[in-house]
Amino acid sequence: MTEGAAIELRGIAKAYGTVDAVAGVDLDVAPGEFLTLLGPSGCGKSTLLRLIAGFEDPDRGTIRLFGDDVAGDGRTMPPEQRGVGLVFQQLALFPHLDVAGNVGYGLRRLGRHERKARVAELLELVDLADSGRRYPDQLSGGQAQRVALARALAPAPRVVLLDEPFSSLDTTLRASLRTEVRSILRTAGVTAVLVTHDQDEALSLGDRVGVMFDGRIVRHGAPRDVYVEPGSAEVASFVGDANRMPDGTLVRPEDIELAPEPDGPDVVTNVEYYGHDQAVDVRLPSGHQVRARLGTSVAFAVGDRVRVTVARDLLE
Ligand code: ADP
Ligand code: MG
Repeated sequence: MTEGAAIELRGIAKAYGTVDAVAGVDLDVAPGEFLTLLGPSGCGKSTLLRLIAGFEDPDRGTIRLFGDDVAGDGRTMPPEQRGVGLVFQQLALFPHLDVAGNVGYGLRRLGRHERKARVAELLELVDLADSGRRYPDQLSGGQAQRVALARALAPAPRVVLLDEPFSSLDTTLRASLRTEVRSILRTAGVTAVLVTHDQDEALSLGDRVGVMFDGRIVRHGAPRDVYVEPGSAEVASFVGDANRMPDGTLVRPEDIELAPEPDGPDVVTNVEYYGHDQAVDVRLPSGHQVRARLGTSVAFAVGDRVRVTVARDLLE
């Protein structure tokens, strides 16, 4: 056992019929850490969260939460005893309860005053102090998701699991809400695992990010380390964009430099201007197309001759 891990998975596997949904996962999450798991649809992310929460039992492997054996070796601790809070993509607020009723739902064992104080504290935390009497259908998508988070945090869980919590929201709202959720979870000091298929979300939110393919975590580490040293072509292309160069190396678009040169060997074939940066596609003499992503101080036009240099390649 790893000393002091909040979540400890060893050799966890779960199959549905012939489908290996989770195919041998080892994972440690430290107390207070925010881990993101990034992977394509169907790679086993939700199954892994259900195993940690206790809605499924693993076929193989063991799960420990704060040193307690909760699953494996024939043991299984029921979900309600695991101290795990859940936030799902599909909003699961009770429509007939107001916001305060929803947040207080898991606190029925507390006395009335204690419960009221705890609900007020949580509503304050998610910045909805004045919304306790509103009903779910009177909330915006972002507010509803903050209520769901407050409800998950209300019983003071040791661990919060978030399953693609932002995917039903529009892009702008998603960006602001994820910043907010991160800060709420930090304030609460809770250990969190968030799964997503969105790279930006995984990289920007996680203290660490794990990349999951086909039921396995194939790479994990600090977001910067995973991005800069993906370890495989598969991970490199999933976590960001990568160019395959004529010699077979992979290069990030932002690691390609373009020098304007009247007789340069390479030719600009496409320019996309985004304001904060630009994407420039270039054809090399070999016929290879590569994409550069760079600042906007130099303007490029289709047909311009340039020289491509590579600042750094991946998978050295
Ligand atoms: P993700 O959340 O990454 O999209 P899931 O964990 O939902 O992936 O699913 C992983 C694999 O397991 C998929 O192939 C999915 O079809 C299968 N699966 C998940 N849950 C069930 C289930 N209850 N019954 C049968 N197959 C399932
Ligand atoms: Mg899922």
